[in-house]
Amino acid sequence: MRQNIPFNNSYSKLPERFFSHVSPTPVNAPKLIKLNVPLTQELGLCESWLTSDEGVAMLAGNFIPQGAQPLAAVYAGHQFGYFSPQLGDGRAVLLGEIIGKNGRLDVQLKGAGPTPYSRQGDGRAALGPVLREYIMSEAMFALGVPTTRALACVTTGEGVIRNEILPGAIITRIAASHIRIGTFQYFAACSDQDAVKILADYVIKRHYPDAANAPNPYAALLISVVEKQAELVAKWQNIGFIHGVMNTDNMSVSGETIDYGPCAFMDVYDPETVFSSIDSNGRYAYSNQPKVAQWNLARFAETLMPLLARSEAEALSIAQSAIDSFNTLFENAFFNGMRSKLGLFTTDQDDEALIKDLLALLQHKKLDYTVFFYKISDFNVYFDDEDLNTWVRRLTERAARESQSQSRHRQGLHKEGLHSQSSQNIAERFSLMKRSNPAYIPRNHLVEEAIKAAVRHNNYTPFQNLTNVLSNPYQRQEGYEKYALPPETSTEKYYTFCGT
Ligand code: AMP
Ligand code: MG
Repeated sequence: MRQNIPFNNSYSKLPERFFSHVSPTPVNAPKLIKLNVPLTQELGLCESWLTSDEGVAMLAGNFIPQGAQPLAAVYAGHQFGYFSPQLGDGRAVLLGEIIGKNGRLDVQLKGAGPTPYSRQGDGRAALGPVLREYIMSEAMFALGVPTTRALACVTTGEGVIRNEILPGAIITRIAASHIRIGTFQYFAACSDQDAVKILADYVIKRHYPDAANAPNPYAALLISVVEKQAELVAKWQNIGFIHGVMNTDNMSVSGETIDYGPCAFMDVYDPETVFSSIDSNGRYAYSNQPKVAQWNLARFAETLMPLLARSEAEALSIAQSAIDSFNTLFENAFFNGMRSKLGLFTTDQDDEALIKDLLALLQHKKLDYTVFFYKISDFNVYFDDEDLNTWVRRLTERAARESQSQSRHRQGLHKEGLHSQSSQNIAERFSLMKRSNPAYIPRNHLVEEAIKAAVRHNNYTPFQNLTNVLSNPYQRQEGYEKYALPPETSTEKYYTFCGT
């Protein structure tokens, strides 16, 4: 059995200064922990080959299939506000690209050994963070948030030295691309304008082909990236996701969520929530995410300045208006997302107040964000709390106004009875809510439990169960009741760690 992976590489054809040719460093004893079967099919890969010795050897970096052109990409980045002029794939190797059902995708091994960009690092990844990335990225995908994906994870049979010796692992990451804001920053910081242009042209061709036909393609590129980031971060906010380390090297220009380090979902609604152990100033707190995204985009715009216009003043004005547009784009996407969570189809001028008042209530009453929205997706919801019931009445009145006006509209169109239309509207409303409010998110205590069982006791059952339930997050699943519940003791401060 031999799998012919249809690699179709394009990044490796860029100039040599964009990357280093480097092969993964083989590992002792690769063992497959998990293969993402639906993704395997989406990519047109053969499941039985990927689970064979040779397939697992590829997933561990021990076997380089024909057509792969392994490389580590160079990039820079602002980390917690400070610029590092050279970072790069310090522990990830791109095997190549394949064209799947939904277009060109990178196949990358993360934890595959040292590269010229490893600095002091060992190029490896520990099992815990690999499982975390698998769980989180696949959960985000199922929740409908643009994200890199996890094709597989393998253990290496080798230990990695962190604070203690931990089992090593490798994750196969699938991404629209691995080009980051920091990739642009690297070449801009080198004053390599040719490279910035080559990269911009490449990104236009790969991710934003419409921009090529715009009067100013580079301005169109900038605006497209701003739009994608605004939509992405609005989705994060809608769902209670905190990325944790929104450095510019962790922001993909394709608009996917990338680099699952110290990320987590909020249980109790609190905009000041920070999970990352290294984010002592709360730079990447939940409430700061839109501002940080805009700040990162400004760094992206800076790299494009010479391409935006001949005159500096004109380039500045193009860049400024693109960055300024972020606020409206974000707010529109955020409030539209919240409207869906509330089962509202249309826009009303009082919606912003309705939503902000709700969030203030959730915060004040220390309510679980996901549980609240899931609960109000049920017909006839009732709380043991008058403030919440008063707010729910406001929502019901608002929804009734909407369905009346829609019914009148439809009545005019179809001459059908008002009564049947109203009940149809209610059904549509609750169906929208059910599609927008998940029962299951990767809750911190469940993620920790799954990681602990695997790392400490070599027991992968909790990991398998968790990934299984999270693959269908909007559907209540029998036997999985505890996965929908917040932790029993939510007062404990939760920290996650990155770079491991
Ligand atoms: P991160 O904060 O995880 O986005 O990583 C920042 C930089 O550190 C990137 O250039 C990574 O490739 C690099 N890096 C993180 N962990 C390691 C490691 N164990 N070995 C080598 N490089 C690493
Ligand atoms: Mg990173």
